[in-house]
Amino acid sequence: MAITGECFCGEVTYQVHGKLRDARSCHCSRCRKAFSAQASACALVEPDEFRWLSGEALLTSYVGEHGFGIQFCRQCGSTLSTVYNGVIHGVTLGCVNGDPEIELSRHIYIGSKAAWETIPEGVPLYEEGVPENQ
Ligand SMILES: [Zn+2]
Ligand SMILES: [Zn+2]
Repeated sequence: MAITGECFCGEVTYQVHGKLRDARSCHCSRCRKAFSAQASACALVEPDEFRWLSGEALLTSYVGEHGFGIQFCRQCGSTLSTVYNGVIHGVTLGCVNGDPEIELSRHIYIGSKAAWETIPEGVPLYEEGVPENQ
C-alpha cells in the first residue's frame, strides 16, 4: 500500500510508491528555524517513487544554502518535503499519514541542540552529522 501524506489544511497531498528510508532528526539551529520545532524529522524518498496528488499549486519552495530547500503549503504553512537541487529529496515525517513503518534511526547535530530541548534517552545520538552511507 502506498504511503500518503498531507499538509495541515489538507489541500496538498502526496503519495510514495515505495519505502521511506533513513529517517533522521537534525537538531541544528538551521533545521530548528526551517521546521519551526526542536528539530527536523525527515525521511528520504526515491524521486521517481514520489508523486503530488493535489494542491501542487499551493506549494512554495524556499531554497537555502547548498541547494537544499523545503517545500511548504502557503495556505497552512506545513512543511511537506525537502528538495535538493530542485529534485524531491525527502518528506517531513510530521505530514505523513498513519504508520510509514520506519523509525528515526539517528538524531544528528545534538551538539548544537536548543538549550530548552531535553533529548529522550535510548535514541541514537550524534554530536554532529554522520557520513551519508553509515
Ligand atoms: Zn495546507
Ligand atoms: Zn540540521
